[in-house]
Amino acid sequence: MLGIEPASIRSDPEFVALGAGNLLPEGTEPLAAIYAGHQFGSYVPQLGDGRAITLGEVEGFEWQLKGSGLTAFSRFADGRAVLRSTIREFLCSEALDALAIPTTRALSVVGSDEPVFREHRETAAVLTRLAPSHVRFGSFEVFHYRRWPELVRALADYVIENFYPELRDSPAPYLALLREVVARTARLVARWQAVGFAHGVMNTDNMSILGLTLDYGPYGFIDAYDPGFVCNHSDETGRYAFDRQPTIALWNCYALAEALGELVELEPAREALGTFEPLFRQAFLEELRAKLGLETAQDDDAILLGDLLQAMELDRADYTNTWRALATVTLEPGESAEAFASNFTDRERIDAWLGRYRARLVREGSVDAARRPRMDRVNPKYVLRNYLAQTAIEAAQRKDFGEIARLLHVLRNPYDEWPQYAAYSQPPPEWARHISVSCSS
Ligand code: AMP
Ligand code: MG
Repeated sequence: MLGIEPASIRSDPEFVALGAGNLLPEGTEPLAAIYAGHQFGSYVPQLGDGRAITLGEVEGFEWQLKGSGLTAFSRFADGRAVLRSTIREFLCSEALDALAIPTTRALSVVGSDEPVFREHRETAAVLTRLAPSHVRFGSFEVFHYRRWPELVRALADYVIENFYPELRDSPAPYLALLREVVARTARLVARWQAVGFAHGVMNTDNMSILGLTLDYGPYGFIDAYDPGFVCNHSDETGRYAFDRQPTIALWNCYALAEALGELVELEPAREALGTFEPLFRQAFLEELRAKLGLETAQDDDAILLGDLLQAMELDRADYTNTWRALATVTLEPGESAEAFASNFTDRERIDAWLGRYRARLVREGSVDAARRPRMDRVNPKYVLRNYLAQTAIEAAQRKDFGEIARLLHVLRNPYDEWPQYAAYSQPPPEWARHISVSCSS
């Protein structure tokens, strides 16, 4: 992607110094950007890259260090990141990318023995993050609320010019930008919901103007299906619960529209925001139809889907494994459904559902041998379960990085079966119930 050979940089002292923030390549003009945002629904007038420094651009990607030290916007904090949180961001952004979910990428983590204090003493690390742009909804909000409309316009022009050039000649480019961001955000969240990803902190400052997954903190993948899953232990009201993500994403789009208020007319802006729900609904249903192995759209599909999700919720079935096993169901009733049905405790209910599912497959002339490989390309075998990340982090804290490498390999190939890595698809063990993730990073 960058034209760099991984082996050539892995132990190159110059690259390590670069990734640690200790070396500034000649010609770079590092910057930290100001932004604001709505955090848990309340406007916070100044945030900004408190610990992120953009070094420059390489092959169309902003090269950003996260955790390299104090910036102009560090406020009361230390500008550092801990090894734990950088590994979590590194693994998850690479995992989501492999699942074809738009996201910032992660190039490297450089660790250090320097102590950093959070709830406990931990050690520092720096993540190198890549994205075409790290501009957030909150980047617009800060200028809007400070009543600097000319800066809102300049930023919108910059974003359109560089990242949405096709909108440049539109009769109303700012409205077109809003419309496009709304669409990308709706599609992004539909992808999250399909794989069971909860972001955890959908504040407007963590919303990318490019529709990327941005700022990995206390995220989580759903294990036992629970639509009200709250991954962030600091989120006491469940504002960012899994099933609220679409609503919150739309709320955030309203905040963006408000920030663009000087550039877009009210009625057309409302109309652009109104496209979110139908777009989300359509994208989500398409995602879920593919997960069901369906190739056509039929009237009762949403009901069939809803009933499966309800059965999963009632029996606390493992979200990833249940979907993955659905591909093993064949049109022949009986034994062939065991791998799937064994995820449920109420067998009668799931057998009844399977009867309807098979009838639905027959109605579109579905062929077992063709459907299974197709479903195996959309229902991942491996996702970054919290306990897997935790195991890799604890090994890394002992300076054993082998677990990260193995896990990364599996997560980069999430649809493939790896008999030697079967353990990585297991639901969380008992000890993992006590892992708690919060915003502390
Ligand atoms: P986050 O919850 O990671 O999205 O961070 C919220 C805001 O706090 C962002 O503006 C961050 O740049 C800033 N921030 C988070 N952690 C630190 C830190 N250790 N030092 C300085 N700023 C930070
Ligand atoms: Mg953030």
